[in-house]
Amino acid sequence: MKKLLLCLLGLSSPLYATEPTPDDVVIIQKPIIFDETRKALTLQYMQQRYGMLQDEPTIEPRMVVVHWTVIPTFAQTFAAFNPPQLPAARAGIRAGGDLNVSSQFVIDRDGTIYQLMPETTMARHTIGLNYTAIGIENIADGDTLPMTEAQLDANTRLITYLAKKYPIEYVLGHSECHRFRDTSWWRETDANYFTEKNDPDIAFMNQLRNKLSKLSLKPLP
Ligand SMILES: [Zn+2]
Repeated sequence: MKKLLLCLLGLSSPLYATEPTPDDVVIIQKPIIFDETRKALTLQYMQQRYGMLQDEPTIEPRMVVVHWTVIPTFAQTFAAFNPPQLPAARAGIRAGGDLNVSSQFVIDRDGTIYQLMPETTMARHTIGLNYTAIGIENIADGDTLPMTEAQLDANTRLITYLAKKYPIEYVLGHSECHRFRDTSWWRETDANYFTEKNDPDIAFMNQLRNKLSKLSLKPLP
């Protein structure tokens, strides 16, 4: 399958723009809208949530946060992340601003890796840590759609690749982000703005960190 993909998506393919990566990581570029509106909303989010005044919505990646989407397909996930503004249905996190949620990467159930945003552009995926965290969403829900072996393998390869490019110190599941709340990593200005998460399951995260044991990651706080 990997060979077939490499073959179909070779660097010269006119169908997809691919980033030059090591041979074992194929990343399909599927950029979501990042227009002036999204840029302005991202800068506003950084200012309001983190007190960070920047000209560009860039981040210095020091951690990777792994998620599952609950949304059952990549197409539906892309459609959910694509609009710059938070849809009306997300009233629960409206207090955090009008920037729509998104993630730099999405991994499909067969392990296909899609990149939706540059790694160093801020995405809204994890309260308190977006200013320094690259988000990886997986098409899964932990119930009828459990995380797959192919996703475990793809997360391992993608994070290994990212750790070569950036000084990544932590790999955590969204459900583990509360462990950073009492540290200086947590930049959310409103102590009451927090939502409890259960993605992905801890067993998956432990398996993933085992596979990443060659990286010099720090234990979670
Ligand atoms: Zn999540």
